[in-house]
Amino acid sequence: MTQKPYRLRLPGPTAVSQRVLDASARLVLNHRGPEFAQQLGEVNDMMRPVLGTKNDILVFACSGTGVMEAALANVLGKNDRILVLCNGQWGDRFIGIATSLNPNIDIDRIEVPWGEAIPIDALKARLDENQYAAVIAIHNESSTGVVGDLKAIGEAVKSTSALLIVDSISGAGGMELRQDEWGVDILVTGSQKALMCPPGLGIASVSDKAWKKVDEERGQIRFYWDFRKAREWAPKGQTAFTTPVTLIASLHEALTMIHEEGLDNVIARHAKLAAALRAGGTAIGFKVFPTAPMISDTVSVLTVPEGIDGVAIVKKMHTEHGSVIAGSRNALRGKIIRIGTMGTVTGDDIVTDIQHLEATLSDLGLDFESGAGVAAVEQALN
Ligand SMILES: *Cc1c(COP(=O)(O)O)cnc(C)c1O
Repeated sequence: MTQKPYRLRLPGPTAVSQRVLDASARLVLNHRGPEFAQQLGEVNDMMRPVLGTKNDILVFACSGTGVMEAALANVLGKNDRILVLCNGQWGDRFIGIATSLNPNIDIDRIEVPWGEAIPIDALKARLDENQYAAVIAIHNESSTGVVGDLKAIGEAVKSTSALLIVDSISGAGGMELRQDEWGVDILVTGSQKALMCPPGLGIASVSDKAWKKVDEERGQIRFYWDFRKAREWAPKGQTAFTTPVTLIASLHEALTMIHEEGLDNVIARHAKLAAALRAGGTAIGFKVFPTAPMISDTVSVLTVPEGIDGVAIVKKMHTEHGSVIAGSRNALRGKIIRIGTMGTVTGDDIVTDIQHLEATLSDLGLDFESGAGVAAVEQALN
């Protein structure tokens, strides 16, 4: 029996290499024993440069949303006011979390049309007008393909008492990240995106400025997510609660692979592959969706050609070719497609993506120059 091909090309979860899968199929370790302590310690050491931090790395068993909630649960007090920078679906997720944790919280937002960047002048003006407990930003807005200018945002927030909380769930490991230098106080990420592991781990890194707020009793509601418990256990090489040790083994392997390739090379590879995918897509009638100056190297968001239904593209890519790409579950439904370029992706994957897209567009009756997409990808790769 031949197995149908299955190419996981989503902006997360991403395809996981056999090497990383094998790592999780070894012995289940005692999470309070010396073997695990060593492994977790090495995960810490290998993760720090990926995030650009000297902070301890806190690991939780959860999806990305779990650590997004953890970040807020640890610092938001009863009468706080926060500012959320919204240019896609993940800013809205933070607003949902904040209101669930505390229905009385004051939430200001800077909202721009999807695909555009957050204007830094508007951020500065808000920071001059109000005192915020936290400013929340998204590094890689995977619903639109826009990258937040964390350096400029950090610069603006640094001199205020506000904490800068950043979701880099789909950025870390695929794009440059300098948490300490940019003044990011709480950075959260997840295992299933550019860190090329299966879903299941949420990772947080907390600055000294943020620890002060974590330590204050300000009416926070937290138990499992309590960063103070995580900090207490960290020096022993342990997590507060039973961690999914097999996923930690996978993360250890994935980080080893990242450092074997070299972090700079990994980041350059993501940039090159994303550029190649965009070049291939635009050669066959797609447009690059985001108009912001900084766009993603980990997900390509493409506007579908006029007259073609994006939902049909996603469906055909799966049923005819086994290529699993994403559409959109919101206002952009049918208008865009999204393909991950993060994790264990190679140039060959991008060529195959565009071959499958060309075949799909032909099936759907679009008139375009056959082979132009693949040629553009190959040119961009060489
Ligand atoms: C994928 C992604 C998430 C994912 O959250 P889950 O809870 O793991 O589904 C959050 N934020 C961003 C920016 C993402 O790209």
